[in-house]
Amino acid sequence: MSTWLLERARTLALANSPSRKTLVIDYDGVIHDQNDGWRDGAVYGPPIPGAIEELQNRIAGGWSIAVVTARHHDLHHDVARWLEKHAGLETVVCEKRHAYWHGPKVLVTNVKCGALAYIDDNAIHFNPRNGGWSTALAALPYSPDDVLTIGGRE
Ligand SMILES: [Mg+2]
Repeated sequence: MSTWLLERARTLALANSPSRKTLVIDYDGVIHDQNDGWRDGAVYGPPIPGAIEELQNRIAGGWSIAVVTARHHDLHHDVARWLEKHAGLETVVCEKRHAYWHGPKVLVTNVKCGALAYIDDNAIHFNPRNGGWSTALAALPYSPDDVLTIGGRE
């Protein structure tokens, strides 16, 4: 485990934070392989190798898992059914704006809740004690200004 994660786990445990044993995991690109693009949010791909086993192991170990998706809430039940089918885990679709999540069921949500850590294929780690914004922005694989140009925004 990284030094950063150990420090964070220790801090949350000492504070008795409800998020100390919760992981928030991005669905697309981390659990679900969108091997043919977005397709209006359809859930159609296979699991990312290793994802199902890790979800099952974490739940068996008493962790709470929130799976986040940018999909509209109307499609969250599709994500839940996919998780139940592929992982055999019970799910619950977020109907409230949970600040924290606990329990053996996997929460499907598009709300950011408290967690020990977030696992996301598009994330860049921000550390105010290690370079802050300049380091985080330098880790982008492209310049934000270039993206605006590519996207055609004025
Ligand atoms: Mg993703």
